[in-house]
Amino acid sequence: METDTNRLAADFAAAARPAAGADSPIRIVPSGWSRTAGPTRVLVSLPDAAHLGALESSWRDAAGIRGVTLEQREPGAASAAYAISYEGRTLLALEVFLLAPPPAAAPGSPAGGAPELAVIVDDLGYDPSVARSVFSIPARVSVAVLPNLPESSAIAEEAHRHGIEVLLHLPMESVAGEDKAEKIELHVGEPAGEVARVMDQMLATVPYAAGVNNHQGSRATADPALMASLAAALRSRGLFFIDSRTSPGSRALDAALHAGVPAAARNVFLDDDEQPAAIRRQLEHAERLAREQGICVAIGHPHGATLDVLAEMLPEVEARGIRLVSASQIARRSP
Ligand SMILES: [Zn+2]
Repeated sequence: METDTNRLAADFAAAARPAAGADSPIRIVPSGWSRTAGPTRVLVSLPDAAHLGALESSWRDAAGIRGVTLEQREPGAASAAYAISYEGRTLLALEVFLLAPPPAAAPGSPAGGAPELAVIVDDLGYDPSVARSVFSIPARVSVAVLPNLPESSAIAEEAHRHGIEVLLHLPMESVAGEDKAEKIELHVGEPAGEVARVMDQMLATVPYAAGVNNHQGSRATADPALMASLAAALRSRGLFFIDSRTSPGSRALDAALHAGVPAAARNVFLDDDEQPAAIRRQLEHAERLAREQGICVAIGHPHGATLDVLAEMLPEVEARGIRLVSASQIARRSP
């Protein structure tokens, strides 16, 4: 009888391989790595439902050999789900997803490649423990760190150590009335030299920033002259740009592309509504857009509900055949 869950998970992942085929992703998400409670998860992607019978019988054999019980469960978001238990204690969740076919000729996607989704968690810089929850999400995300906060540098450095792409989350002037926590921001009328100086000062507090996205900025991003200055500063520093699109009148993406800066715009905000069910729907929407367009950029914030949903759902999104990429990878697909 084997109750070491890491060993068991590896065994059931290996048992799934013949049915899944050589190229389908199989992921193990250890319990406790994810923010969400629950047992270690084994996520298996199948090319089609016809392989499900073979998979189930190979898992039944594996359970028999190891003296554990395999039971079918409500599949939820999966196509099929099982629990592995011993003496009433659940040791593993086995979840089966069907790979969606790659988009035929989606405009932005590499020919024949998997749809790509970049998730950026922004507004980091205040709380290192919240940042650590972001770093523990068991899937690829990028983080955007606000400059000039006491923890900005430490959080950016720790993200980099985790192999997580860092963006400078650049505060920009918004229309009057929005509250303002940031003392320094880009505003309309700022000369080009000042834009570059402010950016360098901010970059000094967010080490390893490979790109920039805007924090707020509904007024600043609508100003072509300011956006041209920003684009020139990005270009000369080799930084990519993601337009957070905090307002529909943003000119930031156009200006960046015009200056030859690798750039893309946010497609989905995940958590305007912070209810978990609403965040799930937004992430499903982002997955759909990635399939339709080939690429998608989603932005979320470090709210508990957002991080829980990302930790739970991103491995599932991957198992359905979406490639999770860093923000720079989407920006580099720009024309
Ligand atoms: Zn922000």
